[in-house]
Amino acid sequence: MAAEDIGLSSRVRGIEPSGIRRIFELMATMKDPINLSIGQAHYDPPEQLIEAACKAMREGFNRYTVTQGLPELNDLVLDDIEKRLGKRPETCLLTSGVSGGLMLSFLSLLDPGDEILLPDPYFVMYRHLANLCGASVKYYNTYPKKDGERFAIDTDEIDHLVTDKTKIVFVNSPSNPTGGMLTRKEIEAICKAAERVGAYVVSDEIYDLFCYDDDYTSPLQFTDRVIQLGGFSKSYGVPGWRMGYATGPSNVLDALKTLQQFSFVCAPAPFQHALLAAMPEIDLSPYREQYRQKRDLLVRDLHPSYALSKPEGAFYAFPRLPRDQNGVQVASDVFIEAAVEKNVLIVPGKAFSAHDTHFRLSFAASDEHLATGISVLNELAERFSN
Ligand code: PMP
Repeated sequence: MAAEDIGLSSRVRGIEPSGIRRIFELMATMKDPINLSIGQAHYDPPEQLIEAACKAMREGFNRYTVTQGLPELNDLVLDDIEKRLGKRPETCLLTSGVSGGLMLSFLSLLDPGDEILLPDPYFVMYRHLANLCGASVKYYNTYPKKDGERFAIDTDEIDHLVTDKTKIVFVNSPSNPTGGMLTRKEIEAICKAAERVGAYVVSDEIYDLFCYDDDYTSPLQFTDRVIQLGGFSKSYGVPGWRMGYATGPSNVLDALKTLQQFSFVCAPAPFQHALLAAMPEIDLSPYREQYRQKRDLLVRDLHPSYALSKPEGAFYAFPRLPRDQNGVQVASDVFIEAAVEKNVLIVPGKAFSAHDTHFRLSFAASDEHLATGISVLNELAERFSN
């Protein structure tokens, strides 16, 4: 039966299933795959955090908290931001993951017909949520100008794309899926362009821990009209806990809070208590070091046909699909299926972009899996570039 026939809203009918779904289907047919398609840290959460969560549940912190979350945890998040970025946002709200923060901020800021500027390539959720709000999506290009160069923006293009209909200019640095990071100059230019037309910058900062070459830079350092969305899923290895936060000007955050009251209600209470108790004691830098080493291994060993732009952050690389001697690129489906035949899972770039020229590889994997994955990919590079 067609979706129209069962009475689904047009809002929901406009949402296509994730481009990564096919990968999950393939994965189900594979035994012990070398899974380089995963978007979550491969490590277990720090032991103190688990202990703190169990303790919180035993001590009875299983009821609702206030909508915005425990005031002490809000303060802790704001203190941490101030320490890292040298500026304290006006206010904070604990959310159900960054996903919750995205939903609340898009619903609070976007009217039908408003424009949102997203990076291309982009994390898939952004486009679907923007569509759900009836906003019109425009993309700014971040692909490298030349093979192997960094993922970067063209500030003239951004200036050209913002209009008086632009409501949100979206930043995701370090990026899922590219692992690219914007420079301070690029972020400053985006903030200026947004300010010029009275738009907000919404900044997905979920990978802020994972910066390998430079310190983390946030739009917060250049503008007050920013909603920062941060999270614990990746850094603390707890994506199933559904914990995140939003910060920003209190007049906007009040709207997010009201929506949260009538939707998510609050972020999970025992996990709020666990983070409050354990965060100050946990040093996450060894995790970042592990991932820096994995990044270095990948950059050193991946076949040159992939023209890899060195990932600067997050735990993704976005290599180009190999081309043969006439410069003809292998079709992404053929390439992905060839990898699956060798038990390796990766995600086609078209899941994150209108372009079908790259693929996403997650290096959030054990060293052994990563090394095997690289050698399979190197074999495929030989096959498809000759
Ligand atoms: N933003 C980006 C860029 C992500 O990669 C993810 C998770 N894959 C999310 C947001 C959602 O994270 P959370 O678990 O905090 O909802």
